[in-house]
Amino acid sequence: MENHILSNLKAVQKRITQACEKAGRNPDDVQLLLATKTVPAEKIRIAVEAGSYIIGENKVQELRDKDAGLAGLKIERHFIGHLQTNKIKDVLKYATCIQSLDRIVVAEELDRRLQKEGRSIDVFIQVNTSGEESKFGIEPGHAVSFIQEIQKFDTLKIKGLMTIGLLDVEKEKMRPSLALLRHTRDQILEARIPGIDTLALSMGMSQDLELAIAEGSNMVRVGTAVFGNRFLGKEIWNENEA
Ligand SMILES: *Cc1c(COP(=O)(O)O)cnc(C)c1O
Repeated sequence: MENHILSNLKAVQKRITQACEKAGRNPDDVQLLLATKTVPAEKIRIAVEAGSYIIGENKVQELRDKDAGLAGLKIERHFIGHLQTNKIKDVLKYATCIQSLDRIVVAEELDRRLQKEGRSIDVFIQVNTSGEESKFGIEPGHAVSFIQEIQKFDTLKIKGLMTIGLLDVEKEKMRPSLALLRHTRDQILEARIPGIDTLALSMGMSQDLELAIAEGSNMVRVGTAVFGNRFLGKEIWNENEA
């Protein structure tokens, strides 16, 4: 198990470096987040000890359940799943960044609790770039006004935009979603919203990380290519149960 994770991790790092070379980009500008849904803490630990330090969870329950198993590790824990208002109190106990902010009610509740605690948190705005009803995220056309609203909350530090994008067996079908996130970022920066000078792009997963890097990704979120297939056995992972 350990060997698989380490060799997979190396292979993914190599894919990132090669994609950066091909795109004429500096590999330091692309971070690797390990998407660890369904992956037990012992396996995450192996990857972290090999030098990874950003992990992403989709469910608050998994953040909580793995907390003890990850104790003592220097990691950033990002929340990358759909966030419900009744889970906000708990997510703030564990996460250092929320990548899936797409509703004002969630921002209000985060702000209320963070103000009480006297601190702030990093956020990414999730954008629906595939146009699929089933995907979460704001519409690209609403991004400027949404960011203007979120920027009013002093406790929410806007770091960038996140998208899942269209996943398809045909690679070229995935590219427009990734390009759309970049265009959306450019539009927001052109709007010159005070306090918004740069925005990182969180996009690219096991299947499409090369395309995402070619389209300007600053953070790829990789699960399967490091930890293997999640769909073993009968348990099918379902985002909507988060
Ligand atoms: C699961 C997940 C990933 C990683 O997907 P893989 O295909 O396993 O690499 C990335 N981002 C989000 C939001 C996810 O839920």
